[in-house]
Amino acid sequence: MSVREQGRRFPTRAKRGFRLLALFCSATILAAIVTAAALTVWPDPLFAYSFRTPDINLHSDRPIPPEAMEVLMDVRRRLERSELPPSGPHDVYICNDTWKLNMFGRNASNRFGGISDVYLAGNIFIRPSDIGRNAIFPPASWRFSLADRPLSYFIAHEITHLDEVAALGRLAYWRTPAWLLEGYADHIGKGSNVDRVIAADALRREAPQMDPRNGVYNRYQLAVELLLERSSFMELAAAPPDPEKALHRLLGVAYN
Ligand SMILES: [Zn+2]
Repeated sequence: MSVREQGRRFPTRAKRGFRLLALFCSATILAAIVTAAALTVWPDPLFAYSFRTPDINLHSDRPIPPEAMEVLMDVRRRLERSELPPSGPHDVYICNDTWKLNMFGRNASNRFGGISDVYLAGNIFIRPSDIGRNAIFPPASWRFSLADRPLSYFIAHEITHLDEVAALGRLAYWRTPAWLLEGYADHIGKGSNVDRVIAADALRREAPQMDPRNGVYNRYQLAVELLLERSSFMELAAAPPDPEKALHRLLGVAYN
């Protein structure tokens, strides 16, 4: 083999090597995308433990204690006062590994309580929890009491979102304002109405717990409960009114 021939063969080998490397990288990226998409629809391989009931299947990446039954019974009790038809059975995944919250929530933050995949598979993902105590482990940044938000609240809140999307359809759900979707989910999730006197006082003082930008839906819940006295959730969704007017009426403030 002449020196010239060797010189011609070297770039050919290099090109082939680059092509193989590019092909390998593309195949790896494609496999990662397909795996992530498959896990979004069917996350079970990442959750070794499950506790099955007819309407709610609870999954976790840690062993599930028998107290799970009491948690799920409390979820059912909260959902009973919803006007929306049950859309279950539901799969609820407790993500004790918080990177799963990032992955399934498709969110750079994992400081949320729970999330439901309303537009795709209808799976529910909840942050690290102590099922035995019916409690979530809140992130350090949360400011408000969890006294009225046990684990069963978070599960019932997310199931209500799935009931909302089932009743409204995906497009109407997407168009419905957040105050109504979140306020109704909190109205059902909390399991009882807000104390009007305490809430009105907090509104008047512009207390931080009445500001949804602080990550709590008390303001939305109060507005929804005031509006539900005259209309159903479906009527409110068909023609959403101004929630601030309802709150002003409660405070007896004149408005135009
Ligand atoms: Zn919500």
